[in-house]
Amino acid sequence: MSDDGRIITPAVRNEDRDNVALRPKLLKDIVGQDRVRENLRIIIDAAKHRKEPIDHTLFYGPPGLGKTSLAHVIANEMGVNIRVTAGPSVERAGDLAAILTNLKANDILFIDEIHRLGRAVEEILYPAMEDFKLDIVVGKGPGAKNMRLPLPRFTVIGATTQLALLAGPLRDRFGLHLRLDFYDQKALEHIIVRAAAMLNVEVRPEGTSEIARRSRGTPRIALRLLRRVRDYAQTRADGIITGRVAGEALELLQIDFLGLDEVDRRILHTIIDSYGGGPVGLPTIAASISEDQSTIEDVYEPYLIQLGFLKRTPRGREATARAYEHIGRPYLPNQNGTSQPPLF
Ligand code: ADP
Repeated sequence: MSDDGRIITPAVRNEDRDNVALRPKLLKDIVGQDRVRENLRIIIDAAKHRKEPIDHTLFYGPPGLGKTSLAHVIANEMGVNIRVTAGPSVERAGDLAAILTNLKANDILFIDEIHRLGRAVEEILYPAMEDFKLDIVVGKGPGAKNMRLPLPRFTVIGATTQLALLAGPLRDRFGLHLRLDFYDQKALEHIIVRAAAMLNVEVRPEGTSEIARRSRGTPRIALRLLRRVRDYAQTRADGIITGRVAGEALELLQIDFLGLDEVDRRILHTIIDSYGGGPVGLPTIAASISEDQSTIEDVYEPYLIQLGFLKRTPRGREATARAYEHIGRPYLPNQNGTSQPPLF
């Protein structure tokens, strides 16, 4: 995903590039995600014991939660090379064939945004993942021949924000599916404290919790907010991130106490003020606020749903009483005819 200009976007922005230094190297550096970490510990230890590569693994969940970091951690733990690519950049079957033929035994191939691979590319990936074979066509026209080349044993690690968009057969080729969840306040604070030490910036516990609370459960956002607050602390205060300094800096960035920004608020206002609280379809919301449908689905909705502000129903999106409260509107449950409470 590319820079979309918003400070709280979980998509990668240019300023995040130096996150690489802050990236966890080993499983013990991974904060939170206990279930995922535990699973990986077992799988990695077992694979090392057998001296085999690990099973193809699929990570899914909203952006910025650590899918790429975990792929690198697995490579470090296994002591193998990792080759990184992304669905949209593998345009033709030949692109993938070139990547596959360059893999060495036990290498990891990390494919970010794997749901965006084209059908023809997927067709190459299936036999490669299942049988470690590359099917290619040599020549053109009637003289063309199908050839099957052997590949070394390797591991595909896929990452996706949209599991539902992944073709069934591709999903089935991953032996392990691991879902990443939003981080809790404590885990985010831990990540912020560690990053602050690496960035050489002094942060007080109230400053840490202020930043963590507004990070939408997402490490990438926590790190970005930390940098912004550091800049503010260095230019408008004495360089120390206190609770007050963090609060002021984040207020200036128009990020409210729950981490919602302008776009989140526009989504809520559209559903509540223009469509009586919903249900309203995603395309209508997207058109009303001039945002991409997939950005709303990938980036904004998961957190609004997690907060209990939004419900996805078969008829569209609905705002909840909490959402009304947050934007300061009275909640009249029967106004749209769908949220009507039972009579008894
Ligand atoms: P994704 O691939 O899911 O979009 P990334 O792996 O790029 O997310 O994570 C974004 C940043 O957040 C990383 O650079 C890393 O520094 C930090 N991060 C993510 N998960 C963790 C974690 N569990 N512990 C510590 N830092 C993390």
